[in-house]
Amino acid sequence: MGRQTAAIKCADPAGVRTSPLTGLLFTRIRESGPVDIGTFMSLALGHPVHGYYMTRDPFGAKGDFTTAPEISQMFGETLGAWAADVWVKLGAPSRFSLVECGPGRGTLMADALRATRRVPGFHASLAVHLVETSPVLRAYQERALKGFAVTWHDTLETLPANGPLVLLANEFLDALPVRQIVKTASGWAERALILDAQGSLAFGISPAPDSLPPLVRFSAREGDIAEIAPERTAFVRSLAVRLRRQKGAALFVDYGYERPASGETLQAVKNHAFAPVLEEIGRADLTAHVDFSAIAEAARVEAVSVYGPVAQGSFLERLGLMARADIVLKAASPVQAKDIREAAARLLDPAQMGGLFKVLALYEGLETPPEGFS
Ligand code: SAH
Repeated sequence: MGRQTAAIKCADPAGVRTSPLTGLLFTRIRESGPVDIGTFMSLALGHPVHGYYMTRDPFGAKGDFTTAPEISQMFGETLGAWAADVWVKLGAPSRFSLVECGPGRGTLMADALRATRRVPGFHASLAVHLVETSPVLRAYQERALKGFAVTWHDTLETLPANGPLVLLANEFLDALPVRQIVKTASGWAERALILDAQGSLAFGISPAPDSLPPLVRFSAREGDIAEIAPERTAFVRSLAVRLRRQKGAALFVDYGYERPASGETLQAVKNHAFAPVLEEIGRADLTAHVDFSAIAEAARVEAVSVYGPVAQGSFLERLGLMARADIVLKAASPVQAKDIREAAARLLDPAQMGGLFKVLALYEGLETPPEGFS
């Protein structure tokens, strides 16, 4: 993958630290050695007090980045239609869990529920479950979903163990940590945060963990970086086990790549622009691209069917996003019409999110495969 992050240095001459998490990292490295990239990402995003998602609403013009559901209600409505179709293909069970992982402001779920109000029996059968670690965002979700009974979870583990699951996740997997493995002259090593000779926080190298070989799935040359994501794989495997047992389907939308590849994709974003990864730790979003082949493989190991990945644009078009736009356009003012057209283009255009984002589904126990993939 493309972007190489230079070894950015954060000096800490007299204990002047740019963020509480920077201080915490200095202490940890001094006391117990290099900190791997996965641990760094988990801390930066999920530290209970200072983690990026724990302290703020990062979305929209005033935030750091914008996501598809925040661009247009048509996105959540279309995913709602997908979920209702899956429910029909499951034989319209009278009780099932409609789950979203990493629901942000709750916009996608609110749009999905509004769009499916008139699907006979759908709302009466569903229970909404949200997997979300951020207390700040849980409060937003509660407001967005007023009138619905919602149950929150920190992880998948506490979801109902009976009845089918229909699960949606937009830009969730990219927030789960990656680790970076580097090919050196003497074999694989792990990229980690260290304190350099000047006492600055920097990227360095520590010995590779023992269990590497099955995780690195391309032939690498010296200097190549492989990203592995044990937390993503573990998440998908435990979801797949549930799908096999309980039936249902899961839809993942994210930016990423389709085949195993080398390169580092860890990036920080603040105020709608890339930021240096080691600056403002906990105050900028951190993400890494999703290796969809690793996700698909994790699901197949558990014998669950996989569809995709396909480009987001083709998926949304197959599910009729343009037809939805045409209906909304009929009642729109000229200004609104311009906004709707621009939003649809952003979501569909292969040169924009339509191509950058991919969609992958896992499913089990459906009469026919889910819509949107062929
Ligand atoms: N799906 C939303 C938000 C994407 S941002 C949208 O498209 O707008 C990532 C979301 O995942 C946030 O809600 C964040 O708080 C949540 N999140 C991050 N790490 C998580 C974890 N380990 N478990 C559960 N939720 C997590």
